[in-house]
Amino acid sequence: MKRRNIVAGNWKMNLTVAESRELAVAVLSEIGAGFSGCDVGVAPTFVALTETAKALDSSSLFLAAQNCHFENEGAYTGEISARMLLAAGCSYVIIGHSERRQLFGETDAIVNRKVAKALQDGLKVIFCVGETLDERESGITGDVVTRQVKGGLAGIDGIGDLVIAYEPVWAIGTGKTATSEQAQEVHALIRGTVAELYGAEAADGLRIQYGGSVKPSNAVELFAMPDIDGGLIGGASLNAADFAAIVKAAC
Ligand code: PEP
Repeated sequence: MKRRNIVAGNWKMNLTVAESRELAVAVLSEIGAGFSGCDVGVAPTFVALTETAKALDSSSLFLAAQNCHFENEGAYTGEISARMLLAAGCSYVIIGHSERRQLFGETDAIVNRKVAKALQDGLKVIFCVGETLDERESGITGDVVTRQVKGGLAGIDGIGDLVIAYEPVWAIGTGKTATSEQAQEVHALIRGTVAELYGAEAADGLRIQYGGSVKPSNAVELFAMPDIDGGLIGGASLNAADFAAIVKAAC
């Protein structure tokens, strides 16, 4: 049986607190609070988490953060910990997004510490991997993604609360989407790598989202692929009607 799809809207560094609340309300009214066919959530900025949590209250949408640190507290100016996110109402955190890797210097080792800490503290993790255009054109997509998966999961025992998001960097925010066949190929490779690490049963249960310019017009085809279990949605998640249409394609 195919896994339960999961769709998450990554709002990135967009929207004020009031705008985030408004979008959460609009998303709920578009998709309805009681849908049940898949898991759906949104990831606002840190300052908007609490108000967005209030807006989502009593709905079945989950709240996610876009990043977290690997320590509990202390002299880490500008950072936030998993326990703080839990207290703010988050059940998920996105870790290792390509923008964190490329713009903020996050290595596989840093991503690994964050994934381990978030899981240990009780957050579910959306762990992002994906190759750049250069890497794809050099024919090393498989090597890069396998290295990221193995590096990010090093020393982690259980993956029950883990979701992997495959996000080819060249498809993020560019309007270029991987074809469903290109995405499926890498999703299958990721599942194979996870099977090597954790066994076939765990790999079979792992949800792997696709991310990279998912839109209402391509969501159905992508989500129909056997190893694609929903999407991590950037730009289109800022529009309630578009996000709802993508959710509909997944549920
Ligand atoms: C993302 O940043 O996670 C993403 C997939 O963005 P977009 O949908 O805008 O390509």
